[in-house]
Formats: sequence, C-alpha cells, structure tokens
Amino acid sequence: MKAWRFHGFNDMRLDDVPEPICAPGHVLVEPLCVQPSVTEAQLAQGIPTLAYDRIKRRLETEAPVQLFGHEFCARVLATGPGVDGFRPGDRVAARAKLPCGECPLCRTERSDQCRRGPVIGFDLPGCFAERACLPAIALVKVDVRISNSEAACLQSLSDSVAAVETAGLRLADKVAIFGQGSMGLECLQVARLSGAGLIITVDVRDEACRVSRELGADHAINARSVDPVAAIRELTGGIGADVVFECAGGSPKQGLAGHQSLWQAIDAVRSGGKIVGVSWFGGPLELNVDALRERSLRYVFPDISTLGHLEHTVRLVASGRVRLAPTIGHVLTGIESVPQAFEITANKGRYQAINPAQVLMRP
Ligand SMILES: [Zn+2]
Repeated sequence: MKAWRFHGFNDMRLDDVPEPICAPGHVLVEPLCVQPSVTEAQLAQGIPTLAYDRIKRRLETEAPVQLFGHEFCARVLATGPGVDGFRPGDRVAARAKLPCGECPLCRTERSDQCRRGPVIGFDLPGCFAERACLPAIALVKVDVRISNSEAACLQSLSDSVAAVETAGLRLADKVAIFGQGSMGLECLQVARLSGAGLIITVDVRDEACRVSRELGADHAINARSVDPVAAIRELTGGIGADVVFECAGGSPKQGLAGHQSLWQAIDAVRSGGKIVGVSWFGGPLELNVDALRERSLRYVFPDISTLGHLEHTVRLVASGRVRLAPTIGHVLTGIESVPQAFEITANKGRYQAINPAQVLMRP
C-alpha cells in the first residue's frame, strides 16, 4: 500500500510499504479524511515544538518512518482478535495519547495522567496512509450525523473539551479566550455549553472574529485595532475575566502571537482567576511568578483527553451543540495532496485557514 514516510525533516515521500497486520486488540482501518495537527505540520518542517526531540531522534535512527496522522475519520475494514464493539463499515475517530495500562497511575484509574503510553502518529503509524492498524482502545464510533470532515476534527475537539473541564467553570463565569483558531473556537463553544456567562474572544484576523461571533462570542475583539486587555477589563467591571483561555501563543513565524498573548492573558484575568494554557510555545519563556503569586492567579494546563471526552465530542457535534463546519476552509482531495495540507497547516496565517487543511484520501 501507499503511505507517506519521512526521510528527514522537510522530506516526505509517498512510498510503497507493507500492508499493516491487524494485531490482537487492534482495528484495521481505511482513512477517509485526515488533517495534520499544527504541531505535526511544524515538526514536519523541523520547527522546534512539542515532541521535537522525540521526532528528531526517530528520524536519525529509523528513517524512513511513517509519522503523524492522529486527526482523522476512518472506516473499519477488519478487527483483530479480542475486539468487540467495532464492525467492518463503522466510521471511527481516535484519541491520540493512549494509557500504558501498566503503571501505578493506570492501575489506579488515573490513566488520563499516564505519560508512558504510545501516541498515534508519534510512536505508532497514523493515518497518512491507505490503511492503518490502530489500538481499539483509542477509537470511538462516529455518529451518522457527523460528516467525514467534521469527524477529522473530533480529536482536537476532545482536547478542547478537556481544557474546558480543567478550567472548572462556574455558572455565569466571565470568560476571555485569546486566539480564535480551531482550538480557541472549540473552547468558546464548549465553555458556552458548560455554563460560561459573558464570553469575550480575541484574535487579529477579521474573519476569525466574524466566525467567533457566529459561534457565540458576545464580543470578538480584533487586537490589531483595540487593546484587548483594556477592552476585557472594561467589559468585566474593571476587574478582569474569571477564566482566560490562552490559545494564541507560539512562533510568530507561523502567524502566532509569540509570548505576548500569555502576558495579555495574565493582565486580563481577575485576581484569584484562572489562566488555562492551551498553547505550545516551542521553548522556555520568562514568567514573573511573583506577579502571579501576588494576585493569587492559577495558571493551569489541560488534562489529556480521555475516551470519555472523545465520546462527549461525538454527542456535542452530532446534536449540533458544537459546530465545526464554519472553521473548515481548506479541503484537498487525494493522498497525493498531503504535503500541501502540511504546508497550509504550518502557515495558517498566510493561507487564511482556521482549521488545519484536510485531505479526503480518495477522490
Ligand atoms: Zn500508564
């Protein structure tokens, strides 16, 4: 079969590889729609971000290697021994990070905190291929009301659901969200469903602000023309938001906000409030901890999404409570167009993309 393999950074090739064998506890699938995550698109180009050292080591020791492809919708072709709950023809999506099943955390029902298990696309071959063999414990069935395109976003949405759960919102909390890319827009919708009161969003793109209003933001502020911290203070009686999601940080080369959105998030949250760090910054940054301490701020990070979170995303999207279609702008066709999807996703600002670019794997 054909699969995209990395021979190095910036060197992906559509190679002929052996058919995957459906092992016990695994499911053989045919990918229908796949999108690179922003992290994957950056790693493909050798840009330092999450998991950079791990990918670099694999390229140095194992290349050519099948990498990436954990955000997908696929159809089940066959199931391995010991798999119930999936049948040929079912459509499935996956969570990326899997529990190891053996460590003390996994054995005491805290497997969502396990960091020893494999990650699809990083440790296991993902779905930039004609077929893939995936652990059944990663998968969820996709409801008939969800399109292949929408289903490819469910993994990312499950991370946003986990992020909002980590925020521990209280009814009527005033929420601010920096960054209205796909995760920012997802956090907006999930926060709205989870009891948020006033919701203020911030982006630097008019189109993202427009989509944000369409999806439920009470105020969508364009930070190019308005000081977002002053605006958030003014809209919250001068004290700041109860909870701020920081979803904009990262390398300015990729059109992200650098470290600035974190400083702004800290200035825009009220004393005793919570900042939920969704962004990956790609390296260390300086933080004035005394300032956070003085204001009793909580700077927290999302838990890893579980199968429960992923199942919840299916309900949210199938029932129309979360809308993904307005964020999907670039849909390519055919396995050959995968590198183009990586290029668009790594440079979403340049291509005016909100969601990563998707690939419908068959014409
Ligand atoms: Zn474990």
